[in-house]
Amino acid sequence: MHAEPAQGALRLDVVGAGPAYSDRPGATGAAYLVRHERTAILLDLGQGSFPRLAGLLDPGILDAVVVSHLHPDHFIDLVALRHFLRWGPSHPRRVRVLGPAGLAERLDCLHAEPGFCAAALDVETLEEERLVVGSLQIEVGRVAHAGESFAFRISAIGHGPGIVYTGDCGRADDLAPMIRPGDDLLSEVSFGPGPVPVSAAHLDGPSVGNLANRTGVGRVLLTHLLMGFDPGETVASVRGRFGGAIGLVAPGDQFTLGSPSPRALEPAP
Ligand SMILES: [Zn+2]
Ligand SMILES: [Zn+2]
Repeated sequence: MHAEPAQGALRLDVVGAGPAYSDRPGATGAAYLVRHERTAILLDLGQGSFPRLAGLLDPGILDAVVVSHLHPDHFIDLVALRHFLRWGPSHPRRVRVLGPAGLAERLDCLHAEPGFCAAALDVETLEEERLVVGSLQIEVGRVAHAGESFAFRISAIGHGPGIVYTGDCGRADDLAPMIRPGDDLLSEVSFGPGPVPVSAAHLDGPSVGNLANRTGVGRVLLTHLLMGFDPGETVASVRGRFGGAIGLVAPGDQFTLGSPSPRALEPAP
């Protein structure tokens, strides 16, 4: 188990940072844990990421899981969370889940069982809105990707920079209104140095770098790199456009948000 976050600090644990498929062992689906004081929220819960989550904290104490969109690499381990809550230690328990319309039905269909999801997950439908969960504020913005897709800005209520998580996003301009100077940008970079094929609603390094530069983010934390793209070339393609700290995150990474970390942000091996 890791130490509890320092009082007042907004902290990110990278639980899973993989894309939809990968040849990198351990590159499990998107899952990012943000904690502040006694509040813990999880951004996405993609394939294979539940075990690492359960090693970081008791998943039953999550204040909310926030799902960006209905691609399995962003939500499918809600099945594992549901089973854990229903049958695991201290069962039965419940967790609040915020996601696009239709999320509960997708989970029910996996088991061909109406009410499967509702047995342990309190699912609410996201809109473009501002939410308060514990000591955290969540701003929800729509992005172009697949059906209803959202990006999120998470910050401590009332002060300081936060983190903007892109989810999967096909148009960097959708993110710009959400970003405040000094925020950390946790951005998908599916197509590495680029370019993104016309038919793919994702980002590449140059588009992330240009967005970071014009919005004045503090750091760029890259994630969701597709199989076949070189991490070093990907980081370099962002560095050519943004002068701040840049790194490709990996499961197990921890960051204190809003203040540059002393640790180097280098590509994961
Ligand atoms: Zn994805
Ligand atoms: Zn997607």
